[in-house]
Amino acid sequence: MPTINFGAGPAKMPEEVMRQAQREFIFYGNTGLSVIEMSHRSSHYENINQNAQDVLRRILKVPDNYKILFLQGGGTGLFAAVAMNLMGRTGSADYIVTGSWSAKAAKEAAKYGKVNLVLPKTSKYTGIPSQETWNLDPNASYVYYCSNETVHGVEFDYIPETNGVPLVADMSSNFLSRGFDVSKFGVIFAGAQKNVGPSGVTLVIVREDLLGEPMKICPIVMDFTIMAQDNSLHNTPPTFNVYFVGLVFQWIEGQGGLAEMEKRATYKSSAVYSVIDGSKGFYSCPVEKESRSKMNIPFRIKTEELEQLFLKEAQTKGMIQLKGHRSVGGIRASLYNAVTTEETQSLVQFMEEFMSAHQ
Ligand SMILES: *Cc1c(COP(=O)(O)O)cnc(C)c1O
Repeated sequence: MPTINFGAGPAKMPEEVMRQAQREFIFYGNTGLSVIEMSHRSSHYENINQNAQDVLRRILKVPDNYKILFLQGGGTGLFAAVAMNLMGRTGSADYIVTGSWSAKAAKEAAKYGKVNLVLPKTSKYTGIPSQETWNLDPNASYVYYCSNETVHGVEFDYIPETNGVPLVADMSSNFLSRGFDVSKFGVIFAGAQKNVGPSGVTLVIVREDLLGEPMKICPIVMDFTIMAQDNSLHNTPPTFNVYFVGLVFQWIEGQGGLAEMEKRATYKSSAVYSVIDGSKGFYSCPVEKESRSKMNIPFRIKTEELEQLFLKEAQTKGMIQLKGHRSVGGIRASLYNAVTTEETQSLVQFMEEFMSAHQ
C-alpha cells in the first residue's frame, strides 16, 4: 500500500524529483562525483548555485534589484537574522502576530531592538484582524508578518499595506504555492523543508537597498550583505540542499509554474474544507473563512476519542502525519505542492466514510 504523506514538514517531495536526485546521486553529470563530494568552489557547484537562482527568478519573476540567498539556520535562524540585518536602521520594528511562528519571531527580534506588536496580544489565532485596526509605526525599520501560519492554518490572501515601510515575510510554509508580486517586499524568507526541499537550506530574497546596514553583532553567516556579495558562497553552503531545491524549482516550472501550483492548491484545499463545512459540526475548523490556509488545514472532530480513532484508521490506509501540532491538538492535513489531487481525494473520501460510520 502506498503511503500518503500529509506531514507539515519536513514534508512530501515530488516523486519525480526524488527519482532524479537518486539517479544522479553517485555520479552527477559527467563529473565522476556526487554533489555531496564536490567542492563548493568548483565550476560544477557554481552552475548548480546559479541554476537554482535562475529558475527561481524565472518562476517567481524576481526583479533584478533583488538578491536570492541560500542560507542555513532554518526559519528560526532567520527570525534573528532579519532583526540583525534590518532593525539597526531605526531601532524598532512592527510585528503582525497571527500565530505561533510570528509570535516566536517577535520574541526573538526583541533581543535586538524594540518590537511593536501591531495587533492586540492573543493566544487564539483564528483569523487576521482587518488592516484598519492595525497599529503601524511609520518609524519602524520594517513590518514583519508570516504569510501562512503552519500550526494554526491562518494564511494571508493579500499583501499587507505598509505605507512605504519595508515589508518582511516568513513564507516558510506557502512559498511557491502561488505567484505574488515580489516588488512589494523588502525581504522574503522560507525554510525549504515545508514546500520546496529538504531541511537545511533557507531561501532569502532581499531588496538590494536594504543591504549594507547589519548590526555589528551580526554573525557573518547571517549577514545578508556579505552573503549577497559572495553569492551565498562566503563559507560552505548546504550544497546538496541547494541542488535539490533547484530540481524542485525546475519541477514547478515543468508542471506549469506557480499559476498551476495555485490552481491545484485551491482545488485540493476546497475539497477538504467543503467536507468540514458540510459535516454539520462533525468536523470543525476554527479559522475564519477568509483567512483559511490552502496549505495546512487544522480541524477537530466531535470528540477526542474520535480524533484518536481517525488517526489510527487513516494510518491503516497509509495516510500518515495527520496529527495536529502538539500545541493545538486535533488533526492537520498539509497539502503542499507535492501532494497530488488524487491523494487529497483519498483523504476526502476517508473523511466522508469516517463521518458516516461515526455520526
Ligand atoms: C517551520 C516553520 C518555521 C521554523 O522553521 P525551522 O527551520 O524549524 O526553524 C518558521 N516559520 C514557519 C512559518 C514555519 O512553518
